[in-house]
Amino acid sequence: MIDLHVHTNASDGTLSPAETVRHACRRGLSALAVTDHDTVEGVAEALAAGIDAGIEVVPGIEISAEHHLGTLHVLGYYIHHDDQRLRGRIDVLQQARNERNPRIIARLRELGVAITLEQVEREAETGQVGRPHFAKVMVQQGFVRSVREAFDRYLKKGACAYIDKYRFPADAAIACIRDAGGVAVLAHPAIIGPHSSAVLQELVAELTGYGLQGIEVYYPEHSSAQQQLYKSLARRFGLVETGGSDFHGTNVNGIEIGTGRGSLYVPDDVLQAVRERRSASAGIVRGV
Ligand SMILES: [Zn+2]
Ligand SMILES: [Zn+2]
Repeated sequence: MIDLHVHTNASDGTLSPAETVRHACRRGLSALAVTDHDTVEGVAEALAAGIDAGIEVVPGIEISAEHHLGTLHVLGYYIHHDDQRLRGRIDVLQQARNERNPRIIARLRELGVAITLEQVEREAETGQVGRPHFAKVMVQQGFVRSVREAFDRYLKKGACAYIDKYRFPADAAIACIRDAGGVAVLAHPAIIGPHSSAVLQELVAELTGYGLQGIEVYYPEHSSAQQQLYKSLARRFGLVETGGSDFHGTNVNGIEIGTGRGSLYVPDDVLQAVRERRSASAGIVRGV
């Protein structure tokens, strides 16, 4: 069993990269991909922990991209995480996140929710500051009863304190991954929105034109009908099928590494297929 979609506290997960790898090992996984949002900060630590634990760690990323159908997430596998051009491009995204946070605080304060950026940054500890951290501080300070309420009333898209942030267009997100030697995969297609299979097919055709190489088929929120649809799209466009749990840490969202909500299973040979795409895309001889 493997898991090709895992977050650490380098983005919005709760476990450090090393803890995440050890957790995967205890759960009996043979490989995992570390795919933090718009950052590769956790990759080096995860790779080192993987060597110690005897488990394969795939260096990865999950990049958010703008598209008229909705926000897309593009996973990148086997990226060269030290690549200078990649680092420069990711810095632009980190900058966009950092610029957004004070604007959220200002908006919340206008609405009478008097929390500070310092409180939110303390909550995030070492990782990226994101909306879940704002939500937790709002709960602690008694402005809302739960993280869910914080999102519903203030932070979710369209709510009164929602501030959008800059994202790459889809073609640039894919190029960012491919140029760093990575395999580019469309994450959780079901989450893009309630689109018809015809619309989704058009989207996949467009993204394949930009260099997309895979589609996330196995995912906790995918129904078996959706899984079948994504498999058929993979066949039609010659894409590799991938899968993962979108694990964000222990006791988060009821999602466990490897098994998701209990029924997820990503077979080992998925990883072999991804590796072959890497060889094909980078023109390098396969091998670790
Ligand atoms: Zn995602
Ligand atoms: Zn994710």
